[in-house]
Amino acid sequence: MTVTRFAPSPTGYLHVGNLRTALFNFMIARKNGGQFILRIDDTDPERSKEEYVDAIKEDLEWLGLTWDRLERQSSRLDRYAAAADRLRELGRFYECFETPTELDLKRKKQLNMGKPPVYDRSALRLSDAEKAALRAERAPHWRFKLDHERIEWKDGILGDVSIDAASVSDPVLIRGDGQVLYTLASVVDDTEMGVTHVVRGSDHVTNTATQIQIMQALGATPPEFAHHSLLTGPKGEALSKRLGTLALRDLRDAGIEPMALLSHMARLGSSDPIELRASVDELVEGFDLSHFGAAPTKFDVEDLKPLTARYVSSLSFDEMKDALAEAGVPDDIAPEFWEAVHENVETRKDVARWWALCRDGATPLIDEADREFVKTALAMLPEGPLDRDSWGKWTKAVKEATGRKGKGLFMPLRKALTGMERGPDMSRLLPLLQKLPKDV
Ligand code: GLU
Repeated sequence: MTVTRFAPSPTGYLHVGNLRTALFNFMIARKNGGQFILRIDDTDPERSKEEYVDAIKEDLEWLGLTWDRLERQSSRLDRYAAAADRLRELGRFYECFETPTELDLKRKKQLNMGKPPVYDRSALRLSDAEKAALRAERAPHWRFKLDHERIEWKDGILGDVSIDAASVSDPVLIRGDGQVLYTLASVVDDTEMGVTHVVRGSDHVTNTATQIQIMQALGATPPEFAHHSLLTGPKGEALSKRLGTLALRDLRDAGIEPMALLSHMARLGSSDPIELRASVDELVEGFDLSHFGAAPTKFDVEDLKPLTARYVSSLSFDEMKDALAEAGVPDDIAPEFWEAVHENVETRKDVARWWALCRDGATPLIDEADREFVKTALAMLPEGPLDRDSWGKWTKAVKEATGRKGKGLFMPLRKALTGMERGPDMSRLLPLLQKLPKDV
């Protein structure tokens, strides 16, 4: 069975970059009738926060990305300890005593000499007596000893990848304070949870190389890996610093619709066109990982707006009922109101803007050259309740009285009644306007 996982660390809110990873894994599981695991990577007690765990769940639920199984790394520490013991037994785990400052100094020296900043394995050359002396001073951290050979895999997006293990530092898997690091925890989880496919950002390619060796050392078969490109801003600029402003909850607050966001993110960076889909199932149907490219993917938050507007416009009255009530639209005219404005709203909440116009009227927008014409026209507005035919009848009469036609007839009237040059069909809107200008 296909098993995938989305493994966020609860150290902040999910953003569009995380969503891309979540979606890929979600869709692979759904497309293959498999299982999608939400794994909370919370081995870092200082940076992990419960409020972010809740927020991650809430954001995924908002999008309809439901998980079949929830796992938390903080409840599996004994499993990681067992794996660490096994690596020790296998002679693939070694104690190191360098302080962060010492390591930093080593890296700088190597860089100055034009060498790659790869850990020099000096801890492997310590004698037992030296180790005992160092242990008395400070707690060791533990590194996995890579086999210096090429690590190769067929990547679901990048194709054939080959990394020389000698160009990579032996990864630290347990810190001096005993904290298990993500690389080991992830290997143990992916193996023990039967994960078959891992899709994550291309910033994890080196991790993947080391994780493949750790898995092999532990006697496990590595899953299929795929690394998606990272998002950039619309001009190709790095997005990493701005991701904080692209939190899913901020997009939600701005009125972006889940289906608009999902439709966009599920195809962005692929050779498939971005089309608004009505359901997650439809998106899953057309999803194909092999259609995604390795090049950085441009993301522009502005692109979510037209998709959102199209989605909201397509909603039925029943689907909009609550939003209309919330905006204060009276029940008896709500269906006609929605019919009048549905093509002109940008978000659900945007109905409030049109309702304010209907309820309060607008400040007329009048060009001096049109003032007399508008005066004449307003004086001709029929008395009493207006209906769908009122606009047609009224403008016909005004046309006959003034000789104006086409844009010269309709535009000044629209601007006088709505204060805007564009908006809903006037024959639908006019009967809903509760306050009409009497004179100008
Ligand atoms: N917690 C890791 C991260 O958020 C997970 C990476 C992975 O998918 O393995 O980067």
